[in-house]
Amino acid sequence: MATINLENLSMIYGSNGSSYTALSEVNLDIRKGDFISLIGPSGCGKSTIIDLVSGLKAPTEGKVLIDQEPVNGPGPDRGTVFQDYSLFPWMTAFENVCFAIEHTNGIHSRAAVEESAQKYLDLVGLGKFRDAYPNTLSGGMRQRVSIARTFSMNPRVFLMDEPFGALDSLNRIYMQDLLLHLWSEGERRKTVLFVTHDVDEALLLSDRIAVMTPSPGRIKEIIEVPFARPRCRKSLSASADYVALKAHLLSVLYCEMQEAIENQSVDHRTVA
Ligand code: ADP
Ligand code: MG
Repeated sequence: MATINLENLSMIYGSNGSSYTALSEVNLDIRKGDFISLIGPSGCGKSTIIDLVSGLKAPTEGKVLIDQEPVNGPGPDRGTVFQDYSLFPWMTAFENVCFAIEHTNGIHSRAAVEESAQKYLDLVGLGKFRDAYPNTLSGGMRQRVSIARTFSMNPRVFLMDEPFGALDSLNRIYMQDLLLHLWSEGERRKTVLFVTHDVDEALLLSDRIAVMTPSPGRIKEIIEVPFARPRCRKSLSASADYVALKAHLLSVLYCEMQEAIENQSVDHRTVA
C-alpha cells in the first residue's frame, strides 16, 4: 500500500512548434489502500495521468509522489493493467506471469516463482489454461491473465487504464467482481488508481471518484462513495442513495460536456 500525490501536474505535448495542453494543474491526494477512479470524457488526460504515475512519461510541470518519493521512471512498485492486455504473445499464460514475477518482486528460486504464478492463475480461475498462448484465449481470459500478472508482481500501487473497456457486459461484470475480490481479500490491499468512463463501474468499485474536466484536464470534483463493502451490485443499484449519487455524478459530467461543447463552438466561430 502506498500514498500517491499528484502535485500541480501539467502536461504539454508538443513537437515541430505546435503544442497541446493535455493536463493543467492537476492536484490529487490518494490515501493508502484507497480505490480511486478517474472519470471524464475522452481526451481529458486520464491515460496521461496513468502514464505519469507509472513513470512512462514525465510531466511538463509538477510532480508525482509515491509514499512521498518523487517518481522518476517506471518501477516494480507500480503495476499497470491496460485495456489491450499487453501480454507477450510468444509466452503462455503461465510464462507471462512467471516472467513478471522474476523481473519484479525479488523471488529468485524457480520453484517459488512457479508456485506463485500458479497461485495467481488459480485465483483468477485460469489454472487449467496455464499453458495456453494469449491468441487462443478470449479477451476476458487475457485480461484475467493480465490481472494475475499484475497482482503477482505485488506492487504497492495498481494502475488500471480502462481495463474492462473492451469486454462484453457479462465479462465486465465478472471482471469487476473478481477485481473487488482480489483487492479486498488479498494479503494486503493495494492502492488503486482506476480509469473508466463508465459511471456504474466507478460507483461500484471506488471509495472516491475524481471527475475530470474536458481538455485541458483538471480535477473538477472529488465524490466520496460511502457504500459499505462488500458491495452487492444488485441491491446497491436499486438503493435510493445509489440513484441519487449516480444522478449527481452524471450531472457533474454533463455540465462539463456542455461547457466543452460551447467552448468548441465559440472557438470554431472565432476561427471562421
Ligand atoms: P484520455 O485517456 O482521457 O482519453 P489522453 O491522456 O490519452 O486522454 O490524451 C489527452 C490529450 O492529449 C488528447 O487530446 C490526446 O490527443 C493528447 N495526446 C496524448 N498523447 C499525446 C502525444 N504523445 N502527443 C500529442 N498529443 C497527445
Ligand atoms: Mg485513455
